[in-house]
Amino acid sequence: MTEKQCEICGAEISGSPQKIVIDRSTMEVCKSCARFGKPEDKWSPVPRKMVPVERAFIVRRPKPRDQFKDLVELVPEFGRKIREAREGLGLTLEELGARIKEKATLLKKIEREDISPEDDVRKKLEKELKIKLTDQASEAQVKSGGSGRGLTLGDIASIKRK
Ligand SMILES: [Zn+2]
Repeated sequence: MTEKQCEICGAEISGSPQKIVIDRSTMEVCKSCARFGKPEDKWSPVPRKMVPVERAFIVRRPKPRDQFKDLVELVPEFGRKIREAREGLGLTLEELGARIKEKATLLKKIEREDISPEDDVRKKLEKELKIKLTDQASEAQVKSGGSGRGLTLGDIASIKRK
């Protein structure tokens, strides 16, 4: 008659109820439901000192994209580099153009260094030919790592476009 009911499962509690704290409110529960909450420290017959689990709010923000990253210097002789890489793959200007969806005439101008490739064209060339056309200290470090670089947003965008 004086038995209490577990506030979680409703079972009658024989003996002393376990006081636990769930969501900052104290509940009297049976032994098997005690695990759902934190024992109320001063009362609990089994004073397990539980350190409140601090939620680690470590939000990993993606690094803001360096706005100047695209304003990179092209390597000297980028045209020759492109041509050599292209010829190394046995591709004609037309074939390369078809692969990266650019006009062969444009690529020809780039190879002659009449014009500098725009960023997206440059990235497609770099990706297709597996070469680096930019001259950046940070990229040089990546390069020394050996296996080339990871995808950039530009690469991903150009993949999606395919
Ligand atoms: Zn219960």
